[in-house]
Amino acid sequence: MEKQGDFFDDYKNDDTALIVNEGVEQPPVVNPYLSRFLKKRPTQMSADQFVEGIFAGNTTILSQAITLIENSLPENRALAQTIIQRCQERSNQIKSMRIGITGVPGAGKSTFIEAFGGLLTSKGHKLAVLAIDPSSEKSKGSILGDKTRMETLCNDPKAFIRPSPSAGSLGGVARKTRETVILCEAAGYDVIFIETVGVGQSEIAVHSMSDFFLLLMLSGAGDDLQGIKRGIMEMSDLIAITKADGTNVDKASMARALYANALHLFPPTESGWVPTALTSSAVNKTGLTEILDKIYEYFELVQGNGYYQRKRREQSRFWMYESINESLKNSFYENPMVEKLLPEYEQAVLDGKFESFAAATELFEKFQENKTF
Ligand code: GDP
Repeated sequence: MEKQGDFFDDYKNDDTALIVNEGVEQPPVVNPYLSRFLKKRPTQMSADQFVEGIFAGNTTILSQAITLIENSLPENRALAQTIIQRCQERSNQIKSMRIGITGVPGAGKSTFIEAFGGLLTSKGHKLAVLAIDPSSEKSKGSILGDKTRMETLCNDPKAFIRPSPSAGSLGGVARKTRETVILCEAAGYDVIFIETVGVGQSEIAVHSMSDFFLLLMLSGAGDDLQGIKRGIMEMSDLIAITKADGTNVDKASMARALYANALHLFPPTESGWVPTALTSSAVNKTGLTEILDKIYEYFELVQGNGYYQRKRREQSRFWMYESINESLKNSFYENPMVEKLLPEYEQAVLDGKFESFAAATELFEKFQENKTF
């Protein structure tokens, strides 16, 4: 067989289109100038720079500070804590409205937030939309606080939308969201929406960080079908029956009457507020002003009777204990010895060689002997 070199040589001097040109050297895959650029990049901002930016309402810096909070790197924790602490003082000065919003998937949360949020900003409020979605880690990407589903609000200079922190346990995600609330308030957002799906535990977390709890319900489906637990209804300050438009108007008003009656059966609330039910259509933009009026009425009542301040203090205490619990849990599970021994203990329990309580006690004792403070 002819050698390849000879084959190409044959064509080299011929007057033919098959001439093989010498190749040009390919550019490197990585731009060599990038390293220079990277070196020139400013180093991490200081706490002062973060806080100044947040106080000035700079949304880029606000977003960076939230990322810092969400990023669990231990080296960032001290800086994040300093920023939160300083923002807390500013956040305490504004009497914000923290509104938890829940409802099953498809209840119309995003559409409602888009329309209702627009109403709030048109009234001069600055609105931050946050979300708690512990499932987002599994689904790799949040379904809540999704900017593509709130396009108008997303382009509204008075609105700031941030999807749910994606990593970690519900406790961790909720803590980060609560810290984000503080940062947003320090940046001048006086209304905070915290959205969640009302099918799990996350609505309890949302309730524990909001002043007002709004439950969005579909008409025509019983609450069993909607997966809404009685407890969720009981902690709602207002139920809004969504999609009250077109052929759905009658059904929605029937559902409203039904839920209004059900709310009356619950014991009186500590706040002195009487929860109620209304109908709304985010598409036709009807019923939204009535909902806002109810919310204003609620805040006037609770800010007047001291419940607003008391509840906030109780929530702060609750979150202190939540943080302690979270830290204790992490220090146990992240202890290298526990990490090593846990699978062995687990297998022994699975094999019936070790009783679960005894296994837990022994492992915990070993952790206590081994831990370093
Ligand atoms: P989410 O899953 O709770 O966030 O619900 P979405 O906001 O995504 O709404 C679910 C579906 O209901 C979408 O197809 C919306 O277009 C529709 N929808 C939402 N609000 C209304 C409304 O006020 N009226 C009508 N007719 N449809 C609505």
